Amino acid sequence: GFRCGIVGLPNVGKSTLFNALTKTAAAQAANYPFCTIEPNTGDVGVPDSRMKAIAQIGKSAQIIPTRITFVDIAGLVRGASKGEGLGNQFLANIREVDAIVHVLRCFEDDDITHVEGRIDPVADADTVETELMLSDLESIERRIVATRKKAGGKDKEAIAQLPIMEAVLVKLQKGEPARTLLASLDADERNQLRNLNLLTSKPVLYVCNVAEADAASGNAHSQAVAAMAERQGAGSVVISAAIEAEIAQLPEEEVGDYLEAMGLTEPGLDRLIRAGYALLDLITYFTVGPKETRAWTVLRGSRAPQAAGVIHTDFEKGFIRAQTIAYDDFVRLGGEVAAKEAGKARDEGKEYVVQDGDVMLFKFNV
Ligand code: GDP
Repeated sequence: GFRCGIVGLPNVGKSTLFNALTKTAAAQAANYPFCTIEPNTGDVGVPDSRMKAIAQIGKSAQIIPTRITFVDIAGLVRGASKGEGLGNQFLANIREVDAIVHVLRCFEDDDITHVEGRIDPVADADTVETELMLSDLESIERRIVATRKKAGGKDKEAIAQLPIMEAVLVKLQKGEPARTLLASLDADERNQLRNLNLLTSKPVLYVCNVAEADAASGNAHSQAVAAMAERQGAGSVVISAAIEAEIAQLPEEEVGDYLEAMGLTEPGLDRLIRAGYALLDLITYFTVGPKETRAWTVLRGSRAPQAAGVIHTDFEKGFIRAQTIAYDDFVRLGGEVAAKEAGKARDEGKEYVVQDGDVMLFKFNV
């Protein structure tokens, strides 16, 4: 599955957030309980109100959301790229995730020590990013020497790789993360960049952890983070980890009142999970039947056979076609039969690019 790594300096609220995340209704809502895959790793359901509408029309007995994984990656300190603290382990853990959720302390509290002695989330983000850039710089400098040598010896693969490596090197030397290259690359080059598996080419979502009173509207710190995120092409969300921890402990029937009292319309974690999903460039398609309405995750741009393969590899191998109904048509017309009558149930073939919200039924050979 797809994995988001939660990073940040010590004492910014990572564990509080992670613990709330794994206890939240979204994690529990699925019909199999929250499962810990390994320490500090949690698998959570992606909240999606569309499933309820589909399940009602399809008279499904159950709703099964699609899931993403969050990993709590502790251990970052200044000097991590030089192996300080748990630096090497920390960097290795980041290398294994698809996207980075970067928690920033945007709350004031004199009782909770800040490692740098002041609240400045933009500077904190820079501290963490610098460690990641230093690690990438060292890695690319090492690899580029070998690749240049091979390219000089007319090695075709090395010749193909070299331009992107040189471009990354220039960025990092200027103190800019590798992801700032993405906008100027074509699909092929993006793939090459991804294959370099650098830390700073992964997408980033900043999470501004604010005090309870600032949860609804944010504060000056979170506004500064939002501006920074905008400049970098990253995302940002405002959350109060303390509120989320409280919600995670409440009986479900009390959550609505509590949110209202806090001036919120939904748990921040729902927004965080959805933002994580968007960050990974994922889309959802649905299957529906009397047994269950179920959401499935694919990368944006996936074709119908690949999407079928998420359910079962046999579906991909034996793919014939996919009956496809757009979510809006399915709901507006009132289900499969009506959609067929209205000519809104399309028969799509191998080249069809799956759209977010498609309700799909695969025909395949076994
Ligand atoms: P981590 O080191 O980043 O994992 O941080 P923790 O989640 O362990 O939090 C560090 C301390 O800050 C704990 O005592 C938390 O209770 C506290 N804390 C976390 N979030 C908030 C918050 O939103 N407001 C306040 N006042 N304290 C918080």
